Amino acid sequence: MLNLVLFGPPGAGKGTQSQNLIEKYGLIHLSTGDLLRGEITQGTTLGLEAKKLMDEGLLVPDAVVIGMISNKLDANKEAKGFIFDGFPRTVAQAEALDSLLESKSSAISGMIALQVNDEELEQRLLLRGKDSGRPDDANPEIIRKRIKEYNDKTAPVAGYYLEQNKFTAINGIGSIPEIFESITKVVDSY
Ligand code: ADP
Repeated sequence: MLNLVLFGPPGAGKGTQSQNLIEKYGLIHLSTGDLLRGEITQGTTLGLEAKKLMDEGLLVPDAVVIGMISNKLDANKEAKGFIFDGFPRTVAQAEALDSLLESKSSAISGMIALQVNDEELEQRLLLRGKDSGRPDDANPEIIRKRIKEYNDKTAPVAGYYLEQNKFTAINGIGSIPEIFESITKVVDSY
């Protein structure tokens, strides 16, 4: 199986590059952000609880997202592989993901980190907020809080994969096709 973790701060371009990767490699896209927004749209209890935190720019509890990922892995037993987008976002999530994959006799092939500086991120997110309708993209204060959550809780996840020799960083500034080409070079080396 080809199991990729696409990593990077909010606005780094993970969603965009995931779409390209799905087409090229035939993988299943698992975005915890999209899954949570789906719960909100459906008005589930989980969605209502998550919305409060998401609108504030805070992470939702590990158990919630780990449960969602576990369900999706079970529902896609025949998949060639997965792209994890926006997950794992804490070291506890990374450990849980390793256990889930191990129980399926699989593992993460590698993490690809898109690197973009904070000023560029803020600009991209504010621009996206103009038409995405996402409340967490519309407000500069919330955007800064998301970037802070990322630096505090999520950035250490890179170290987790680095220790396993599964980490590659890529420049996330440039044209979408250029960045995609850098990503495919790494994926093809797995
Ligand atoms: P972005 O990466 O652009 O911030 P996402 O769509 O990945 O957007 O996530 C939006 C929000 O959903 C996050 O700010 C957070 O509140 C919540 N979320 C998504 N994935 C996770 C996760 N793995 N763990 C905790 N919270 C998450």
